[in-house]
Amino acid sequence: MSGAPGPERSTDRFVDLHMHSTASDGVLAPAAVVAAARAAGLAAIALTDHDTVEGVAEARVAGDALGVRVVAGIELSAHEGDREHHVLGLHVTRLGGLEERLVALRATRRVRATQIVEKLRALGFPVEMDAVWLEAGDGAVGRPHIARVLIANGWAKDHRDAFDRLLGSGRPAYVPKQRLPLTEAVQMLHEAGGLAIMAHPGPDGSRTRLEMFKRIGFDGVEVRHPSHTVEDIARLGTLADYLGLVPSGGSDWHGSGEGSRTIGSMRVPLAWLERQDALVRERATSERVA
Ligand code: AMP
Ligand code: ZN
Ligand code: FE
Ligand code: FE
Repeated sequence: MSGAPGPERSTDRFVDLHMHSTASDGVLAPAAVVAAARAAGLAAIALTDHDTVEGVAEARVAGDALGVRVVAGIELSAHEGDREHHVLGLHVTRLGGLEERLVALRATRRVRATQIVEKLRALGFPVEMDAVWLEAGDGAVGRPHIARVLIANGWAKDHRDAFDRLLGSGRPAYVPKQRLPLTEAVQMLHEAGGLAIMAHPGPDGSRTRLEMFKRIGFDGVEVRHPSHTVEDIARLGTLADYLGLVPSGGSDWHGSGEGSRTIGSMRVPLAWLERQDALVRERATSERVA
């Protein structure tokens, strides 16, 4: 029977539910991200740019042409005291309602970028703000854009070096983001009809912490992510099942050059996406009934 293509089963197919494009700090345009997904044989992707859904429409057009499903997503930064967490919103539908808040978040990103550049200049790296704007284009500006300017000028060896020495949390050119409370991020995503997924919790994803996330309204947790160890993945998968959180996962690919992340590398089964779909449908039904 070898070689005969059987009926396609969802257990044989993979998805990647965490990816960035030029709509934020990725290096490929949304359509090119989808083309890469097609080349990698993925059934679906979620485009999850930082603080924006602007890339989703273009990705969808490409996805329709290439036979890759595109889930509308976003990655928000949210705070619990001084701690910054990332929150993925997946399957967002009422994008309009989200937009006003996102415009404000992106404006504070631009202010922060100028503050980071001021710090770099004071440290003796004469970074030109215009070079950063050029790097970011129309996209939501972030530290990776500044890292690319540092690298282009020979002031940092690579992305890792730029973050380790200058841009990373607690490093001399670090500027924290404006605070968005975790509960507000979850609420925003729910108002937009999406699922709120705790992104890459890593070793912080203990049972106690996940119970707390569930209590404040999270629907799921990112189980597979390149920053996770084998132990993290096993623990998070078990806890997600136990606590009734949907699992998610993805490569957090930014296009290339930034670490060893590659598209599709997390081997996230299509069945996980189908569980998310079922939850979204359940939500929609209970909203209609209510
Ligand atoms: P920002 O939105 O400015 O906070 O930048 C966030 C992005 O920077 C993440 O999506 C990563 O691509 C990258 N990043 C954040 N922290 C680090 C780090 N410590 N090392 C390398 N890259 C990082
Ligand atoms: Zn990023
Ligand atoms: Fe993240
Ligand atoms: Fe990300």
